[in-house]
Amino acid sequence: MPDAFLNYIDGKWVPAANGETYLDTNPARPGEVIGEFQRSGPEDVDAAVSAASQAQDEWRHTPAPLRGEIIARATRMLVERKPELAETITKEMGKVLVDSGYDVQGAITSGEYMSGEGRRMFGDTVPSGLPNRLAMTVRGPVGVVGIITPWNLPMLMPAWKLFPALVCGNTVVVKPAEDTPLSAVRLFEVLEEAGVPPGVANLITGFGPEAGQPLTTHPDVDMISFTGSRAVGKQIATLAGAELKHVSLEMGGKNALVVLDDADLGEAVTGALWGGFSTTGQRCTASSRLVVDSRVANEVVERLVDGMSSLVVGDGLDPETKVGPLINAKQLERVHSYTGIGVEEGADLVVGGEKLDESFGGHFYAPTLFDHATADMRIAQEEIFGPTITVIRVDGDEEAISVANGTRYGLSAAVYTRDTARALRAVSELEAGLVYLNAPTIGSEIHLPFGGVKDTGNGHRESGTAAIEQFTEIKTVFLDFSGTLQRAHIDEPTSPD
Ligand code: ADP
Repeated sequence: MPDAFLNYIDGKWVPAANGETYLDTNPARPGEVIGEFQRSGPEDVDAAVSAASQAQDEWRHTPAPLRGEIIARATRMLVERKPELAETITKEMGKVLVDSGYDVQGAITSGEYMSGEGRRMFGDTVPSGLPNRLAMTVRGPVGVVGIITPWNLPMLMPAWKLFPALVCGNTVVVKPAEDTPLSAVRLFEVLEEAGVPPGVANLITGFGPEAGQPLTTHPDVDMISFTGSRAVGKQIATLAGAELKHVSLEMGGKNALVVLDDADLGEAVTGALWGGFSTTGQRCTASSRLVVDSRVANEVVERLVDGMSSLVVGDGLDPETKVGPLINAKQLERVHSYTGIGVEEGADLVVGGEKLDESFGGHFYAPTLFDHATADMRIAQEEIFGPTITVIRVDGDEEAISVANGTRYGLSAAVYTRDTARALRAVSELEAGLVYLNAPTIGSEIHLPFGGVKDTGNGHRESGTAAIEQFTEIKTVFLDFSGTLQRAHIDEPTSPD
């Protein structure tokens, strides 16, 4: 019998109201069951949102430094449990242990930063236009926040949203991805042990249409924070927007790593291998397009092929492994279908392009390289979310930047060059929320804003102080000690009248 895991609602571990469960399996060995999880529905969403609504008043009146201290306690526990949590992530999601350690570390650094926000959360104090009057802003919570997360960063992603939401005084209901519920359960065990009061943070596991959608439309949810696919993000924006909820969306990317003709090619290729194939390419910031100046393209491709020969595919728990499995059978089929599309479109399949599920016994796919793709091909435009890199050859910096910008997405971009002026021009012209110089498109840091332009997002940024902006409402406060009625602009002392 597999271990059974419950929802966490109002400080108690409870089964789904409909009694339904589902099995979560290891993508490296699909026969191995990670656990049995609740297949939540609208009744569980109701219970969780009701608990979050009831806990709201007390939590928002709990001083922010005390909220921060609870987060600091949770963070210390994550530090202690990091190796064990990383192993859980690898077993349930497939990526290599180092990568899973990064996932836990992302949750830890978020906790460290956001616990400190309990003693900052700055407002502004500004001069008033009238005498004997103070003018300032203070921050309060948005209310009840629904958090819907993907499976590729199963601990970092909920933590990146949870910690800032909680420190700002919101109460939350988290619906993690159906493929990675255990990482979220472990995070909630930590929150419980750290002393997060009942109802303040609630967890419901299950599927998008059954649990995520009712959370999106629930009348008592004030905000939805979502990371996932563009299709679902658009649907959430439509449904939640119709109810005037706050909506923060982080969606896909088709991130370009640009190699100019004066780049250090060794450095660029090392960056491309890491940016394209770590987490098996299942990162919204993955370096999935290489936009390479044709003068150096042959050498870049040769070096890539050489580098790819040492990408050992296997179980993420094996220290030799560099590329783990894809998350599930559906994703394996999807990634493989893009290989067929690329070949049909006329790109050169240089390496890989094969399913390894039968030989390896899990959802494995060979790291794949396409060359001579054109910028408009589907493999150069659509997010594959797998270990597939597409090389597009260009002539000169202008074409490189135009190709890099030529997708609907705008999450992350990178440029490799040794020339400061060319670098600065590229950094200024690239349409992306994150730009890296001489580094691949992945690897953001918690104290800086994270997010994208164009169809990647809807204008919000996560992480750092940008997260505090998202998860707070600002109140503008005027304190008048003049002893008379001052009528703002009408009584403006500097007014020409
Ligand atoms: P991915 O392709 O990365 O799995 P999805 O957008 O399908 O991305 O899933 C991201 C998260 O959104 C998951 O937690 C999933 O369960 C949830 N989700 C999927 N469909 C819906 C929906 N219709 N409403 C709300 N949440 C959904």
